[in-house]
Amino acid sequence: YAGKKNGQIFGEQLRKMLIKEHKAVPIVIAENTSVYDAIVTMFMEDVGTIFVVKDHGILAGVVSRKDLLKVAIGKQDTHEVPVSLTMTRMPNIVTLTGDETVYDGAKKLIDYQIDSIPVVKPLDDSGRTLEVIGRFTKTTIAKIFVELGENKEV
Ligand code: ADP
Repeated sequence: YAGKKNGQIFGEQLRKMLIKEHKAVPIVIAENTSVYDAIVTMFMEDVGTIFVVKDHGILAGVVSRKDLLKVAIGKQDTHEVPVSLTMTRMPNIVTLTGDETVYDGAKKLIDYQIDSIPVVKPLDDSGRTLEVIGRFTKTTIAKIFVELGENKEV
């Protein structure tokens, strides 16, 4: 680290840390899940964002707290409306692969003003068939930050 500024050292560390080593377990539901059940899942799993998947865990969409609130304050019955009606859907989903870095992940969260990003494994070359294998969130970054603050090896 001779002659390097703290910022440079910190930046280098962040760009060395891989998403695959820091991802959390994804919380997923099927496209036909009701908005009501999605809200219950959010409380039970203590997450703010849920990933919506097709068969074999293929990413279909993302549903956030505000997506669900939009339906909840409307006139429709939350038991009747499927999450597929309110989710943000593919191909408009910001994703990460395991080989991207924690810096890449943090940059995407800020640039796109979102709280959570699905970590995916592309199953073909189209870029549209993505298997969900994890999640990367603002909480993940806060955890890494605390570990670095404790001078732990992260
Ligand atoms: P909240 O709605 O709880 O504030 P976000 O700020 O993460 O949560 O979500 C804002 C909007 O962005 C929502 O409509 C949500 O569907 C969408 N969104 C969330 N995560 C992603 C993502 N990874 N890719 C694309 N859109 C997303």
